Amino acid sequence: MTNLHQDQPHRGLPLRDQSVRDQWTRVKSRLRISVGEDIYSSWFARMDLESVQDECVFMTVPTVFLRSWIQSHYTDRVLSCWQAELPEVKRVSVTVRSAMRAAAPAKEAAPAVDVRRPDRPAQELRVSASAPVSASHDALGGSPLDPRLTFSSFVMGRSNTLAHAAARQVAEGRRGDPVMFNPLYIHAGVGLGKTHLLQAVTWAGNSSPDRKVLYLTAEKFMYGFVAALKAQNSLAFKEALRGIDVLIIDDLQFLQGKTIQSEFCHTLNALIDAGRQVVVASDRPPSDLESLDDRVRSRLAGGLVVEMGSLGEELRLEILRSRVTAARVHHAGFEVPEPVLDYLAKAITHNGRDLEGAVNRLLAHSKLNAQPVTLEMAEREVRDLVRPQEPKRVKIEDIQRVVARQYNVSRSDLLSSRRTANVVRPRQVAMYLSKVLTLRSLPEIGRRFGGRDHTTVLHAVRKIEALVGKDHSLADEVELLKRQLQD
Ligand code: ADP
Ligand code: MG
Repeated sequence: MTNLHQDQPHRGLPLRDQSVRDQWTRVKSRLRISVGEDIYSSWFARMDLESVQDECVFMTVPTVFLRSWIQSHYTDRVLSCWQAELPEVKRVSVTVRSAMRAAAPAKEAAPAVDVRRPDRPAQELRVSASAPVSASHDALGGSPLDPRLTFSSFVMGRSNTLAHAAARQVAEGRRGDPVMFNPLYIHAGVGLGKTHLLQAVTWAGNSSPDRKVLYLTAEKFMYGFVAALKAQNSLAFKEALRGIDVLIIDDLQFLQGKTIQSEFCHTLNALIDAGRQVVVASDRPPSDLESLDDRVRSRLAGGLVVEMGSLGEELRLEILRSRVTAARVHHAGFEVPEPVLDYLAKAITHNGRDLEGAVNRLLAHSKLNAQPVTLEMAEREVRDLVRPQEPKRVKIEDIQRVVARQYNVSRSDLLSSRRTANVVRPRQVAMYLSKVLTLRSLPEIGRRFGGRDHTTVLHAVRKIEALVGKDHSLADEVELLKRQLQD
């Protein structure tokens, strides 16, 4: 795995070596080809190389937001461009320039730039390709938008029909129209198109002049809020938020901190009560947002909650085609034969990000080596993106349902406080499965089993772990349940 180290004091020597400079120039051109001109000039044009040390490359950017964005979206890309030049590179580190120059203590480095100049990042991150939409969006302090993530590039399939329809409806609404579902809550695993859909709504919604659609990552909501609080200006920030027609918050699972959450709750209530649309995306359903308090959770669950499932093979194939078509706008000679597309759609099952990565790699490879794309080359280039089948996302409710059926008890028996043997064992098995098949914490599992304490869950997990080591028929039962839940 790649590691992106932030805000480490960099120990590198200044770059005197001409060959390293040349490498940096080549890395930048690889990156430019890989991400395309628009993205490159938005995000990477101001990235500087600081030093190369052993296995790590140290680079700098001028703002915290550039750093976070590059970190969350392009780490692998940057790393692989470096590795193509210098195979021994294992890590890339991106830090914020001004914070380093001022020799700020490491702890302070991250928020410092934003708090002092809360207005800067939005201006600096303007997406050049669509200036008018982006300018009004930036003026509101929105998070950066990727010009490629629009409805026209979003491919519909069985897994996202409903989410797509709901998003379209939101995008096409007019100021003053009654709001059909509020909030619209979209959840899906990583790389399944949440951000794409949300940004598509933002682009489309903002194209009508009398409507303001604001797209914020949860992180930006927090930074914006913290910055405003520090500047004693939280009222202005709240007012600005309330002045918009559609508020879109991406990656809600990252919203942390009591004050922020209670402000989020106020904002949510104020917007919804005023008939403004709120759209939220998260990697899990509202009931699984462990750190949010119950009121926010139920408010979030009170609108339309839509899940986007994994990308089917047909959808993957269409996404690949659309990516290739997009790449051909700038690289006319780029051809990907049908058997290669088929191979990629079959082999890369994991998520959309990997599909995009695969196309970019083929493009980079064929450009830099002036070679046509072949099946053999594709197999070689994307080898690391081909992963074993991802286990299905298992939900606690499903576990409870399947276990209850298996042991012939009811789901409410499992959640109840009854302690008769015929209920205790299935309950323990269900808690155990919740621990091993989901990423939920012990307290969360306890909460979902009728408000039990986390120690009770821990006890159940240990108990079943110990028993399956000795009791073969129980081990078989548990194995069978696992298989039912994961197929
Ligand atoms: P998420 O936010 O859910 O993690 P993204 O929206 O960032 O996922 O999607 C990851 C990549 O997959 C992006 O390049 C996106 O354009 C692409 N993608 C995912 N779903 C679709 C789709 N239905 N149509 C076109 N591209 C898609
Ligand atoms: Mg996303």
